[in-house]
Amino acid sequence: AAGHVNWDVTLRVDALPDPDGEARIESQHAAGGGSAANAAVSLAGHGVDASILGSVGDDENGLLVERELAEAGVDTDRLRVVDDGETSVKYLVVAASGQVMVLGNDGANEAVGPDDVDAETVADADHVHLTSQRPETATRLARLAADAGATVSFDPGRRLDARDFSATIERADVLFLNGREAASVLGSEYANAPPTRGGLVVVKHGARGATVHTATGSYDHPGFDVDAVDTTGAGDAFAAGFLAVVLGADGIDADRIERALEYANACGALAATSEGARTAPDRPEVEAFLDDQY
Ligand code: ADP
Repeated sequence: AAGHVNWDVTLRVDALPDPDGEARIESQHAAGGGSAANAAVSLAGHGVDASILGSVGDDENGLLVERELAEAGVDTDRLRVVDDGETSVKYLVVAASGQVMVLGNDGANEAVGPDDVDAETVADADHVHLTSQRPETATRLARLAADAGATVSFDPGRRLDARDFSATIERADVLFLNGREAASVLGSEYANAPPTRGGLVVVKHGARGATVHTATGSYDHPGFDVDAVDTTGAGDAFAAGFLAVVLGADGIDADRIERALEYANACGALAATSEGARTAPDRPEVEAFLDDQY
C-alpha cells in the first residue's frame, strides 16, 4: 500500500466545535493512521503479505507509527523516515451525533515524490494499492506497477480532483469511490461506464453497502446493520478486505468478486463500530461476524 502514514488523535466531543471553537472533549486516544497505513495493517490482518510505501518524520510519533506497523506484520522497508521531519498529526473530531471533522496538516506524509520511486520500488509487488498522496507520485507508481506486471488499485480518499488523477484512474484495475467521488470521476452515468481498463469500479454507499461495476455487469451488496459510532477508516478497511479476497495468483479473480464484496462490507461495517481510523477487523473477526449473519 502506498500513500499517507500519519499519527491520528481521535477526540470524542459532545458536539462539533461551534464558531467560537467551543467543544467539550469527552475522551481521546491516539494511534498510527493514514489511509495507506490503515490499509496495509488491514491487509496483514487478512493474511496478506503487505508492505507500506510512505513517509514519517524522525520524531517520537514517527517511531511509534513505524513500530505499530511492524508489530502488525507490515513490512516497513519502504517507510521513509524524513530527517528533521515532523510526522503528520491528524485530529479526528467525532461528535456524539456521529459527525466527524478532520483537522491537521500534511507534513512528512507528503515526502515521497515521483523521483523517489522506481522499478525497484515495486519489483516484488503482485499488487500496488494507491491511496491519498501526491497525484504525480500515484501516477508514476501506477505506471511502474503496470510495467512490472502488478495489478493496481486506487482509492483517492478525501483529496480527489479527478483531473489530477486521471492517469492513475485509467491504469487502475480496481477503483474504489464513494458516492461523491463517483459523481466527480465518472459523472452521473457511472453505473454503465467503468473507466478503468477492463477493471472493476467499486462504489461505496456508506451504511447502504456498495456496488461493483464490471465490464459485463454489476453486483450489489446492501451492507450490514451495525451500531456505527465512527465511520472514519471504514473505506480503508473496506478496500483492504476487498483486495484480500479478490486478488488471486493471476491478479483479479472474477469468480471471487461477490465474495469479496460481502467480505469488504463486513470489514467496513465492523470498522464503523469503534472509534478511530485504525479499527479494521482481521480475518477471524470478519469470518465470525459473517457466520453470525446467517
Ligand atoms: P468512505 O469512508 O470511503 O467515504 P463509506 O463511508 O461508504 O466510504 O464506507 C465504506 C464502507 O464501509 C461502506 O461501503 C460499507 O460497507 C461500510 N460502512 C460505512 N458506514 C457504515 C455504517 N454506518 N454501517 C454499516 N456499514 C458501513
